[in-house]
Amino acid sequence: MESARATQLESVAMGKLKIRIERAQCVGNARCHAVAEHLYPLDQDGYVAIDGFEVAPGDELMARRGARACPERIITIIEDED
Ligand code: SF4
Repeated sequence: MESARATQLESVAMGKLKIRIERAQCVGNARCHAVAEHLYPLDQDGYVAIDGFEVAPGDELMARRGARACPERIITIIEDED
């Protein structure tokens, strides 16, 4: 049920998305990177290498999946409605 709802949400056309990452709390398990390698780069020690980014058109789905994949819940999706 939850996944059906998530799929539905993902398919809705949204405004611009931003991703914010509480990088200091990253534990380096690379779940985000495994889901969306090009959006969630890792540093040489295996921790997420960025504090966030503006999601390019077409990357929304993978950005959201990467955020959901983080078991530490330190990746936040910001819906920018302007
Ligand atoms: S999934 Fe979360 S904890 Fe794991 S590397 Fe990515 S940001 Fe860090």
